[in-house]
Amino acid sequence: MSLLELNNLHVSFKTRHGEIKAVRGVDFWLDKAETLAIVGESGSGKSVTAQSVIGMIPRPHGRIVDGSVSFKGEDITKLPIKQYRKIRGKQIGMVFQDPMTALNPTMKIGHQIQEVFTKKLKQPKKLAKESAIKLLEEVGIKDPVSRYYDYPHQFSGGMRQRVVIAIALAANPSLIIADEPTTALDVTIQAQILALLKRIQKERETSILLITHDLGVVSEVADRVVVMYAGSVVETGTVQEIMETPKHPYTWGLLQSVPTVEGERQDRLKAIDGTPPDLSRPIVGCPFAARCPHAMEICAEQLPANENFSGTHKARCWLHDSRTKSYLELAAGGETSE
Ligand code: SF4
Repeated sequence: MSLLELNNLHVSFKTRHGEIKAVRGVDFWLDKAETLAIVGESGSGKSVTAQSVIGMIPRPHGRIVDGSVSFKGEDITKLPIKQYRKIRGKQIGMVFQDPMTALNPTMKIGHQIQEVFTKKLKQPKKLAKESAIKLLEEVGIKDPVSRYYDYPHQFSGGMRQRVVIAIALAANPSLIIADEPTTALDVTIQAQILALLKRIQKERETSILLITHDLGVVSEVADRVVVMYAGSVVETGTVQEIMETPKHPYTWGLLQSVPTVEGERQDRLKAIDGTPPDLSRPIVGCPFAARCPHAMEICAEQLPANENFSGTHKARCWLHDSRTKSYLELAAGGETSE
């Protein structure tokens, strides 16, 4: 049994313009001590998928309409909200993009960490303070005893993100959901935060669900990757499979943002021409068809099946169907990495 399993998850939002089907039949699993990255452009459904895991789909407009989110073998979407809240923060920690909004600006850093120990773990105040100081030290805050009394604005962006990670870790959760945890930071600090997450994972055997648009970040920390487009998973594989032998044209587009051998890197995705489909309308065929340079007639008519390339590598694309133009023929034309 995996720590986390999503099966056929569908999430919709009611809007003035109709129902937006933001997540459309997402499946994946995450094992203990593993890092799974969900990548995709903005609007691909990756953050909504993460929100489903922590029960934070904005109400009343958003809801899970089908499927399940199984955590430690239990479908947590069926839990009463009070029980859900207990799991969140205690068994599932969260790290968001902007540490300033995650922290209370009017409260001392130490007290914000201490609160987790007193409220979630019912530790007495003195012990909770000691635990908070120890944790500040663990996440690399120098002079933690005096920094305990500082406010968030007295910390740099990178230090604030370390504090957010400390809060997420306080209850020693089995799973951390990190939604674009380094996007707001400069490249040097980004590397430090990624190294910190990796170290913590190794020491504590925590699982990490990483949400990011940046395949460079993925290559540094992830074990496996889920590529999402228009609310659906278009490709999954180990980080090596996705980086070295990607099979889906959308993944090929995303990979243009990965660091080059020469050391240069682009921190943002190179834009893929065109726009994603309108998620308030039914999608017929492959959702990427309107933007795909390899699209064939059948792509706009029928959804391709998931093709297996290994026990871990799958992609949904007509290029790999034996009845359509051979993938190897295309590769010989220089369109793929193979
Ligand atoms: Fe492109 Fe067709 Fe493959 Fe979709 S199914 S990614 S449109 S080639």
